[in-house]
Amino acid sequence: MESTLALQSLWSVTAPAGPQCPSLTEARRAQVIVIGGGYTGLVAALHLAEAGRDVVVLEAADIGARASGVNGGQVIPGVKLDPDVLEAMLGPYAGGRLVATAATGPDLVFDLIARYGIHCEARRVGWIQPATTESALVQQARRAEQWWRRGAQVELLSRREVLQLTGSARYCGGLLDRRGGTVQPLAYVRGLADAVLKSGGHIFTNSAAVRLARMGGAWSVETTGGSVTAPLVIIATNAYTDTLNEELRRTVVAVPSFQVATAPIPAALRSTILPDGQAASDTNQLLRYFRLDSSGRLVLGTRGTFTAAPTVRHVQHHYRAVHEIYPQLQGIAFEYHWGGLVALTRDGLPHLHEVAPGMYAGLGYNGRGVAMASVMGRLLARRALGVPVAELGFPVSPVLPMPLHQLSGVGARATIQYLRLREGMGRMRTQLRLRAPFKA
Ligand SMILES: Cc1cc2nc3c(=O)[nH]c(=O)nc-3n(C[C@H](O)[C@H](O)[C@H](O)COP(=O)(O)OP(=O)(O)OC[C@H]3O[C@@H](n4cnc5c(N)ncnc54)[C@H](O)[C@@H]3O)c2cc1C
Repeated sequence: MESTLALQSLWSVTAPAGPQCPSLTEARRAQVIVIGGGYTGLVAALHLAEAGRDVVVLEAADIGARASGVNGGQVIPGVKLDPDVLEAMLGPYAGGRLVATAATGPDLVFDLIARYGIHCEARRVGWIQPATTESALVQQARRAEQWWRRGAQVELLSRREVLQLTGSARYCGGLLDRRGGTVQPLAYVRGLADAVLKSGGHIFTNSAAVRLARMGGAWSVETTGGSVTAPLVIIATNAYTDTLNEELRRTVVAVPSFQVATAPIPAALRSTILPDGQAASDTNQLLRYFRLDSSGRLVLGTRGTFTAAPTVRHVQHHYRAVHEIYPQLQGIAFEYHWGGLVALTRDGLPHLHEVAPGMYAGLGYNGRGVAMASVMGRLLARRALGVPVAELGFPVSPVLPMPLHQLSGVGARATIQYLRLREGMGRMRTQLRLRAPFKA
């Protein structure tokens, strides 16, 4: 039988230690309860604590144990949909405001890092979207033009420029968005937790909220060891939303994303790969995202395996992706393997909900949450502080569970398998084409 891979995130080895937080073992009161201690919850808690509110964060695991501690650390501006599409969907006013609000993500992330002195290897050197096909490049030309009209620093890159910036000859062009950058994701979320504590907030880890009830005009949240009562609750559980709020859970589909990291790449080779330190997410149908870490390991992620105990066979497509993008890395060992869940929404947009009076939720970043979850945290805090919906710059939408949600996971799995199969067939066709001239 094939042995299972040892799952360990590279970030857990290189991040500074986080704060030691107790579990909740008592009944207490607060002004705001935040459920979930990732970027969304901690940025919300930080803004609330800065505004003088007594805020309690309840986290089911340790800080950074879920998506915010295991992601690719790519700080990507905006949401997945293009600005013109958003304005067509929501109307020029609401769409335009959403585009502008989402675009503030990188500024917010790098400002918080600077303001709280968070040591998380932050680099604001831009984000690259390399194009795998000519048609993707045509789409990117439109995207770049839409951003230029809005004054953003987004450049269209030629094949040669992408080769120079990424060191990969795989791409026919691409985009460089100078607003983006990279962080060590676990170090960023741990730094946010430190900032919350220093600002007077309280964090309880290993304290899952297991029951939520309205009692006499306030919310009471029971955890495994205690309880908190407050007039306001923020749910910030994203892809890990559980049955605490079943309707909210069914607004997103949780899809696995998995990453591998190589051994440190020898210096001569390393200087040819992403020499200016950008991160990249390509336009492949099963998107591949990659970057170097501070010790020159290539970290690459793509849609992951659904099994909890993957073997080498399950990550072959990750290894193949690394070698397809960087054939020069053949022979370099893969030393770390890890994954997490991404929350996808039906319309591709993140959502801010008022679930019930005094209960807010923000989730659904569709794989772009480092910047956007931070923005959502600030939005949730502003709403909880009483900023009117009309002044938020982001729509507040009703909770609309997906019909047949139980089937969406099956659908996601089938789509991933179909796209992998197509990729495999594409590879076979290329190999046959390459062999054809030598057949006769
Ligand atoms: C492998 C991977 C790679 C990614 N790469 C990138 C990237 O490079 N760039 C990018 O922009 N985005 C990326 N993302 C997405 C990004 O990580 C997420 O969108 C973002 O971290 C979401 O933050 P969050 O705080 O909303 O959720 P999380 O970080 O998942 O936090 C939610 C927290 O809620 C807690 N929780 C759940 N239920 C309860 C409960 N009942 N009681 C108490 N606590 C509870 C969970 O334990 C968890 O800690 C990636 C995601 C994954 C999984």
